[in-house]
Amino acid sequence: MTADSAAFDRQHLWHPYTSMTAPLPAQLAESASGTRIRLRDGRELIDGISSWWTAAHGHSHPAIIAAVRAQAEKMAHVMFGGLTHEPAVALGRLLLDLAPAGLDKIFYCDSGSVAVEAAMKMALQYQQAQGLPEKCRFLTVRGGYHGDTFLAMSVCDPEGMHSLFSRVLPPQLFAPRPQCRFEDDWQPEAIAGLAALLEQHRDEVAAVIIEPIFQGAGGMWFYHPQYLRELRQLCDQFGVLLIFDEIATGFGRTGRMFAAEHAGVSPDICCIGKALTGGVMTLAATLCADRVARAISEGRPGLFMHGPTFMANPLACAAAAASVTLLTESGWQEKVAAIEQQLRHELEPARSLDSVADVRVLGAIGVIEMRQPVNAAALQEYFIGQGVWLRPFGRLIYLMPPFISSTADLTRLCSAAVGAAQRSSNQSFSRARTWQTP
Ligand SMILES: *Cc1c(COP(=O)(O)O)cnc(C)c1O
Repeated sequence: MTADSAAFDRQHLWHPYTSMTAPLPAQLAESASGTRIRLRDGRELIDGISSWWTAAHGHSHPAIIAAVRAQAEKMAHVMFGGLTHEPAVALGRLLLDLAPAGLDKIFYCDSGSVAVEAAMKMALQYQQAQGLPEKCRFLTVRGGYHGDTFLAMSVCDPEGMHSLFSRVLPPQLFAPRPQCRFEDDWQPEAIAGLAALLEQHRDEVAAVIIEPIFQGAGGMWFYHPQYLRELRQLCDQFGVLLIFDEIATGFGRTGRMFAAEHAGVSPDICCIGKALTGGVMTLAATLCADRVARAISEGRPGLFMHGPTFMANPLACAAAAASVTLLTESGWQEKVAAIEQQLRHELEPARSLDSVADVRVLGAIGVIEMRQPVNAAALQEYFIGQGVWLRPFGRLIYLMPPFISSTADLTRLCSAAVGAAQRSSNQSFSRARTWQTP
């Protein structure tokens, strides 16, 4: 049975960012609850990355599962065109209570990439409605990641995984990566490159899109909050909208409900996703300020031109409402602060290794940056042997554990990560493949 399923999978099922003919081994997951993923062969792994940063309350939290079950009994799905429902409304109320100030309208989408597409379309329609159709490019910073669909890819790091498609992507404007570290003193020259680029292209730029404070899949980098304050001012000065992609950072991951709060600024448009449903179902959303919605709606054609088939799926909205409620009632700030302390303390030993370039932690995110790309295949085997589920990519070994992780779980995750860094100084563990992705 197991062998059959594994063989079928290997022959017919494409996994994220893999070769179909030479895939990395895929483990058969049988069940998951709390921080544990159980494999078919009986082994149990501690999920150290919340299944791509989604399962903030651990897997299959009973409150979320109960909400989905109850909703499924009533209505699994109806179209959102011409119909609405309580789960969408209830979730909307919860989100507006938490979202950065000034965000007032919500567009539900089915994935993070689509939320980014919707955000970028909003910016384009906004500028058209202002009578400025030539403002149709986007400015962003290097080292970003915004998704795998085409407009989203066009604003990902140009040297990153989407460079294969550069011929068909609209050419956007790239400022240097925000260099000033989160915890360092602010260096005003850190934003000079972006300021100059924006001033030069002010008449063509519809919006700046950026991941606030934490760049995720583009390099796991934390930068200074002052960057965002200055960026807000520049955008206002040059009549450019500001889009925050909070898909990775939203819902407490960086120690604030939204990373924008570190800087105390609000974007005009904001994308959320990933942890929105607590890792139970796919759902994302694009929030915008009233003035953006008003311009789009009162300009021509007076409609926002997007509408996914499964928009505001009631099961996903019910899961999200349960997850957001759990979060706000869970004392998450203390938990994330405690995780941050422990990650700082227990990843620190990696810093002294010759193979390690940097160790950094913010909120419930811990990163060991290696000098050389790691060998993901060898490390996957090593991690499974250690009873943990971590997925390094490029030169990065990182942790994004569920907020419910026990100190004992965190210790096992940290020692496995440090152990991996030690092994990666050894040749066979650091032989890189050409493409490495999360
Ligand atoms: C994961 C991610 C996306 C894409 O979300 P999908 O649900 O995978 O489409 C976009 N932006 C950021 C910052 C992300 O981390």
